[in-house]
Amino acid sequence: MNVLIIDNSALFHKILVDIFLDSDITPIICDTTEQGLERLRSEPFDFICVSLYLQGGDGISLAKMIRGTEEHKHTPIILFTAEESNDVYTEALSSGVTEVFHKKDVQQLVNYIHRFTLQQNPISGRVLYIEDSLSQQKMITAVFQSRGLDVDAFATAEEAWESYNKNEYDLVVTDIVLEGGMTGMALINRIRRLDNEKGDIPILAITGFDDISRRIELFYLGVSDYVIKPLIEEELIARVRNLIQSKQFHEESEKQRKRAEEADKAKSVFLSQMSHEFRTPLNAILGFSQLLREDAEHQLVASQQEELEYIQQAGTHLLGLVNEILDISKIEAGQIDFEFEDSNLEDCISSAIQQISPVAKESQIEVLPYLIPSEINIHIDTKRFHQVLLNILSNAVKYNRLNGSIQILCKIIDDKFVRIAIKDTGIGLSEEQLSKLFTPFERVGQSDEIEGTGLGLVICRQFVEAMGGKVGVKSKEGEGSVFWVEIPRA
Ligand code: ADP
Repeated sequence: MNVLIIDNSALFHKILVDIFLDSDITPIICDTTEQGLERLRSEPFDFICVSLYLQGGDGISLAKMIRGTEEHKHTPIILFTAEESNDVYTEALSSGVTEVFHKKDVQQLVNYIHRFTLQQNPISGRVLYIEDSLSQQKMITAVFQSRGLDVDAFATAEEAWESYNKNEYDLVVTDIVLEGGMTGMALINRIRRLDNEKGDIPILAITGFDDISRRIELFYLGVSDYVIKPLIEEELIARVRNLIQSKQFHEESEKQRKRAEEADKAKSVFLSQMSHEFRTPLNAILGFSQLLREDAEHQLVASQQEELEYIQQAGTHLLGLVNEILDISKIEAGQIDFEFEDSNLEDCISSAIQQISPVAKESQIEVLPYLIPSEINIHIDTKRFHQVLLNILSNAVKYNRLNGSIQILCKIIDDKFVRIAIKDTGIGLSEEQLSKLFTPFERVGQSDEIEGTGLGLVICRQFVEAMGGKVGVKSKEGEGSVFWVEIPRA
């Protein structure tokens, strides 16, 4: 990268030298306009920087002069200035300056130049190029190839279409008006009609028309970008680079998304198999410790009974955890088959209440009488829905206060859903705790001394969503919570 700097301040030279010291750029610094111009005549430069005030002229006029020469038509020109004025900025840009740098911001120059050089790097990709003027075709093909691209060039859209169907491309560049039966527009149309990913390829149209309606029409017809004849090499390459890079970037992120999805699925499959394997030995531990407790022939002493109770408690907790992990991983791996049927809502709720009542009684929590219209049926997997209700009800007991109560309310929503709300008078949840709910292993409340795994609500949400419903909560710290489930009616 050759950088020429034209500036006559010794102090600024020192700053510039320091800035470039750690970079791979060695700039050539000239004091005067004459020296600068002479240097430009004798060797090529990729980047030119001029200061606003110079001996023997000003930077803006110099930039204008340099920009006017054939070899520096497209070379980036930077203007250094110590002035904050907008007028300088406007005048500089209209005189062909690429960017204005305030002298105090000059530290950013190396980054800026590096970013610019990225645009000079070779582009990798395969281009399908259609142009019926053979001289133009030859010239642009050479330009593409000089930037590292593979090019298949054709004079007619018919030949190009045949090649498009046989090969993989990163970009189509086509003239809009073509000789022969099929125009460039018709080719674009055919490509965009494909319903596979080949239909999404970026297309750069080359057009001789520059009126607004034509430009808009091009975009409506599926062109990604366009260039106007006569072609300017730098512009053409910048647009080609953008289109190819964004396609490749999209493909890469799509690949990564798929990889992450597969890894996630593999994790769920692994977890579900592992949890399954855990259950057999755990059931043996629990079964045999039960047998030991009940063995009338070999009575255990009180301390052994107590220890055995610990084993059973820990085993039961572990089994609950394993079962919940199994549920979550199975649903994530898509291995749960839901058995849908129409069930009576009142029956579902009564059976859950029946199961929770002894626990509630033991904790001195009252289950208030509830009224549910007997004729409502819901479309659910009955076993899983029972599990959901039981989890929410047992939370309403666990996280309630002494002598608290639980109330169940049902409401029909939009004729299609039933909302079942379970209201408790318990510890409630703060805004922050609410935002963390439904996250695996998140036991948000002061629940350390209360038995639990932090997985129940996650499973509830997954089950209910798989049944086409929703789960939600409203809560006030210290007053209680309402957990609700919305489920489709039969
Ligand atoms: P677990 O009860 O096993 O911890 P859950 O997933 O069922 O797991 O609940 C997650 C957390 O949400 C609980 O640990 C508790 O902090 C909070 N929580 C759930 N239900 C209630 C409720 N009715 N009142 C207050 N906090 C609750």
